[in-house]
Amino acid sequence: MNVRSQISMVFHLDKCIGCHTCSVACKNVWTDRKGAEYMWWNNVETKPGTGYPTLWEDQEEYQGGWEAPGGKLRLKSTSKQKLVFNIFHNPHMPSIDDYYEPWTYNYEHLFDAPAGDDQPVARPISQITGELVQIESGPNWDDDLGGSPVYAANDPNLEGLSEEQRSQLSSVERLVYFYLPRICNHCLNPSCVASCPSGALYKRGQDGIVLVDQNRCRAWRSCIAACPYKKVYYNWFAGKAEKCILCYPRLETGQAPACFHSCVGRIRYLGVLLYDASRIEEMALKKDAELVEAHRSLILDPHDPEVISAARAAGIDEAVLESARRSPVYKFVKEWKMALPPHIEYRTMPMLFYVPPLSPVISTRVNGMVDFDSTGFFHDIDESRVPVRFLANLFGAGEEREMRYALRKQMAVRWWRRAQTTSDVDRETALRMLAEADCTPEQAEAIYQLTALCTFQDRFVIPPMHREEVIEKRHSPRQAQSSAGFGFTTGTGRSI
Ligand code: SF4
Ligand code: SF4
Repeated sequence: MNVRSQISMVFHLDKCIGCHTCSVACKNVWTDRKGAEYMWWNNVETKPGTGYPTLWEDQEEYQGGWEAPGGKLRLKSTSKQKLVFNIFHNPHMPSIDDYYEPWTYNYEHLFDAPAGDDQPVARPISQITGELVQIESGPNWDDDLGGSPVYAANDPNLEGLSEEQRSQLSSVERLVYFYLPRICNHCLNPSCVASCPSGALYKRGQDGIVLVDQNRCRAWRSCIAACPYKKVYYNWFAGKAEKCILCYPRLETGQAPACFHSCVGRIRYLGVLLYDASRIEEMALKKDAELVEAHRSLILDPHDPEVISAARAAGIDEAVLESARRSPVYKFVKEWKMALPPHIEYRTMPMLFYVPPLSPVISTRVNGMVDFDSTGFFHDIDESRVPVRFLANLFGAGEEREMRYALRKQMAVRWWRRAQTTSDVDRETALRMLAEADCTPEQAEAIYQLTALCTFQDRFVIPPMHREEVIEKRHSPRQAQSSAGFGFTTGTGRSI
């Protein structure tokens, strides 16, 4: 067992209101600079939709992440050999049109325009060329299913849905959407790190944050193609790759990341996970249908004496272990199995997780009591406006089992609470539902507390950081890399 620790996040999608405050907070802190105007390290997408950059989930087009032919992990697009051939043009690299041309307005015209018959207007000008532009797309062009239905209809996660399900998605009476906030997943098996010929990307040993060493970056941009989530960006002005840094300067001073701190819906949970780095490669090679469980099995029980002594032997600080024991992320991901990694089939082993959205529960009453269907308690899940298959494509490599488990548990907790606050569900029925959803009353209460009544301190549980160690490691990047959270040879032939 090779125990490492990571700071990890859970997004509770039922709580996201799509306000974009997180994106704006991140933009104001980190990407309000020349060359970074088009970057949204944190963005919030409407699902179904094509996202930002457009169709980022289409790996036929972008060839991001890993594949596992013949039981060996291999980068899809950016192996060393392919990089040489694609040195002047990588056909799988997103272009600025796949993001959008960032713009501002010539506001000064409102003041400087000569007197005339018409009111002056501020016209859009490109932040890249300084020329007037015609705005045709933006990072959130299809927000709330706005614009043309063509966005939602082309969501790659619709694969496997019947024609009827697809058409229902856009019929007025069943119209549905939810929000998907996205940042870098600070993966355990990051294809961005493995693809970099300069060794500029690395995963910090002490907290698992994936960073780009700006001094080493030589603008190969292989990381941009290799990241299947498209969460590395190229600063065309600085000539360097840039990405979400999980606000490590804030974490090192005990402050929450800007996106977390500003989140209006309080949907974000930050905590420590302990994991077994010696089994990452083995787990990343599992079949698609087994990947969610395989990934979960890498996460170690912080209460287990064997894990604790192995963690101490690996030099993990007592404060980190204490935080791991109180981690809200551990509860959602491992204990309750309610939070799932996005697109685990890319095999980067993302370390950010999502509690899937549960559509509204609509009930009919007979004699004042909720009338449960004879087919069982959970038929609503199959009749949900958001098809289970769609969610499973997003959070389960197309395998519905884990998604159903998470949704059933959420639904059982709702009914359990309803039995306590209204008289239309009796306690016995709610208890049977909990039992069928593999949940005890105590667990249901804990889930309810952490979902609905949580304080900032419940959601943000990280250890005090030893900034002095970080600074020492920063002066010795090799040392930082050698203590990184993984240790197998990658597709580029480089040990990372
Ligand atoms: S999401 Fe994963 S692969 Fe993409 S930039 Fe972040 S760590 Fe790298
Ligand atoms: S601030 Fe929170 S609630 Fe608002 S869009 Fe971002 S993640 Fe969702």
